[in-house]
Amino acid sequence: MSVLIFIDQSDGHLKKASFEAAAYGAAIAKQFNTNALALVLGNVADDLTQLGNYGISKVYQAQNDSFNHVDALVFAQVIAAVVKQLEASVVVFSHTQTGKAVAPGVAVQLKAGLVAGACALPDTTNGFVVKKTVFSGKAFALVNITTPIKVITLNPNSFGVQTTTGNATVEALDVEVPAASVKILATNKVSGEVPLSEADIVVSGGRGLKGPENWGMIEDLAHVLHAATACSRPVADAHWRPHHEHVGQTGVQIAPNLYIAIGISGAIQHLAGVNRSKTIVVINKDPEAPFFKAADYGIVGDAFEVVPKLTAAIKEMRSK
Ligand code: FAD
Repeated sequence: MSVLIFIDQSDGHLKKASFEAAAYGAAIAKQFNTNALALVLGNVADDLTQLGNYGISKVYQAQNDSFNHVDALVFAQVIAAVVKQLEASVVVFSHTQTGKAVAPGVAVQLKAGLVAGACALPDTTNGFVVKKTVFSGKAFALVNITTPIKVITLNPNSFGVQTTTGNATVEALDVEVPAASVKILATNKVSGEVPLSEADIVVSGGRGLKGPENWGMIEDLAHVLHAATACSRPVADAHWRPHHEHVGQTGVQIAPNLYIAIGISGAIQHLAGVNRSKTIVVINKDPEAPFFKAADYGIVGDAFEVVPKLTAAIKEMRSK
């Protein structure tokens, strides 16, 4: 047996969440005293041997023009065929857009049990029990996968990007690529910003900011912190900010190392998208705002006074 980790990439660069998935898969391989193998689909500019630093012993890379876009059905068929070829028993994805779209298809192809959104290593003392978050992160479920092949998607930021030393070897893999099931007509990418789903730090604003004209201070704070910007749903609904910045139950779900919520009340639907953040800082003028209950640090104060001072203090600290 072996553990196969799917390495997600974007525009030729490996995604941060993939390093965490690699480290997680390598830790599972260690539990079973076997090898951690990685699979990369498409052309990649990054050095793939670096995956050895996350416990991968061998990277398989399959190249084909159709891998430039993620077609979930094509990816699922190709990955399932590679799993069979390499006789892998555990397949690990990151619980990102790609992982969420592709992993279920792989599980179907392999008649494998799937745990989506794992947050800890499997407990193998009695079966293969994987802990996962449920009810938007409000509770945990323990799921025993009983099929011979097991598929897991790992919640980003739940295991950590654990490093070791080592170099992975890279081998080209010939794969049969099925006909595309969808045709991509155009791709519009947001450029010049830190992508929200990949960001280490996110500065987010809510209705407390009164209007779009006040977003300069959010952007200034995000700029000094090299952070992405986000917002609550009413802010996007009112077109103060673009919809791709809306986080929460019905928006993007994120798990950065630091989430700074400014003028956001902390409604349950908002928390559902951000409560996996490592550290939450809340700035709100209402000491009774529900968000303070979920916060690691809170500042009770007027955002229009607090935020510019915070930005200036960070700027000064960085200039020393
Ligand atoms: P408000 O609730 O109006 O809160 C504004 C906050 O700003 C208040 O706490 C106030 O004290 C504070 N404030 C005001 N002035 C200042 C100041 N000068 N300085 C500092 N603080 C100040 N919401 C989401 O965000 N994401 C979702 O995905 C989402 N999905 C939903 C799905 C459903 C089915 C439903 C019913 C609702 C959903 N909502 C979602 C809406 C959610 O219930 C809340 O209405 C929303 O999150 C509130 O946004 P807000 O905190 O920005 O605004």
